[in-house]
Amino acid sequence: MEREKEILRYAYTQSSFYQSLLQKKKLSIEDLMEDWTKVPVVDRRQMICAEECVIPSSSQSSPEDNQRIYELSSGSNGMFMGIPWSVKDMFSSVSPLWDCRSRYYGLKVQDKSCYFHIYPDFCDEGTARDSRNNRKDLGFSVLGLNEDRIERIYQEMCDYEPKWILMPPSVALLFADFISNGKAKEIPSLKCLELTGEWVTDKQRRQIENAFHCKTVNIYGSYEMNAIAYECPEGHLHLLEDNVFVEMMDGQKVLSDGEEGDIVLTSLHNTIMPFVRYSLGDKGKISSKKCSCGHPGRILRLTKAKKNDMIRVKQDINIPPYEFTYAFQCVIDSMGVEILQYQVEQTGYFSYIVTILTKDKKLLEHREVQEDFKRIFQERLFHQYLKKGIYTFRFRDEVPSEKAVKKMRTFWAFKRDEK
Ligand SMILES: [Zn+2]
Repeated sequence: MEREKEILRYAYTQSSFYQSLLQKKKLSIEDLMEDWTKVPVVDRRQMICAEECVIPSSSQSSPEDNQRIYELSSGSNGMFMGIPWSVKDMFSSVSPLWDCRSRYYGLKVQDKSCYFHIYPDFCDEGTARDSRNNRKDLGFSVLGLNEDRIERIYQEMCDYEPKWILMPPSVALLFADFISNGKAKEIPSLKCLELTGEWVTDKQRRQIENAFHCKTVNIYGSYEMNAIAYECPEGHLHLLEDNVFVEMMDGQKVLSDGEEGDIVLTSLHNTIMPFVRYSLGDKGKISSKKCSCGHPGRILRLTKAKKNDMIRVKQDINIPPYEFTYAFQCVIDSMGVEILQYQVEQTGYFSYIVTILTKDKKLLEHREVQEDFKRIFQERLFHQYLKKGIYTFRFRDEVPSEKAVKKMRTFWAFKRDEK
């Protein structure tokens, strides 16, 4: 049986979330096994709002508990979801990515690398070693990236001599500016920069490559799936089809080669939290054309993917919007409130409108709960310019505007004096 069908059977027999979908659609597991096209498409919002748990009860109490990795979805579409992986599944899931890294760029698991994360751990010291695996990684928080911190991190990276760096394009651009302003030399050990998590334009890539004096490589991935596609030296994003089963869809209809649709994914490895026909909210096209690099994976062209503006607090000071993601996460953790989605719109250098979509009655109806929310949010912003901001909060139980329907964005920058 193909792996996607094994996962399908597993999810629909073990997870109460998937079982309740079956009941709602009045289908049986055998209907789905016989006809894959009947398998419902799900998304993150559905999983967050569902009363039933996605994680099968068998794996909730498994002895593997102490061997789990929790990834927090980056909230790049403004919705938070914790995603558990077992160490074993994680290993199988990232192995196709490592094949590509090694084949195209000569990178090995034991090579030194740097990466960026959205947590503040060791933020003041600037570094955090990744204890989750044996890779030689040096991690830095994306929070509080002011000029001093950029300089300090860059110096640490130079001393560390990484072979590659994994970073979001918005962070890479900040460092590229720093280097291009003559404030630093290139890192001689660096073979490539892997860009992930955000949409990046060709112009931005050239800017980053010129500053770092090395090649950039696009990775398309998510915490739910890990790496979904990896860019080969020919510039094609190859689907990692040993990790994910990918379909391009329009509603419940599967599209053929070259047609633009929603990217719908089935993780072939995550058994702790199964994702079957899961829509990330991104759009693209797939081509089965052979590529001269020899990779067997079909080629993905993204047409619409996560895209956020940088926060602009002065003519020439930009801050990646992860600061907000982290502050929202802190509020959720410390207050135990549920938010379905958030959006921040910048209306001036120091003014912001924050919209919170929630079904949580405490948050919608009690003023003192809202005040606590605002206070914790502002306390947890790292960057000094964001701490000085004036924030207007709106708590809503429904999507408030046209903008909110666009899944791709959680942050809009202040545009008035754009060149
Ligand atoms: Zn290729």
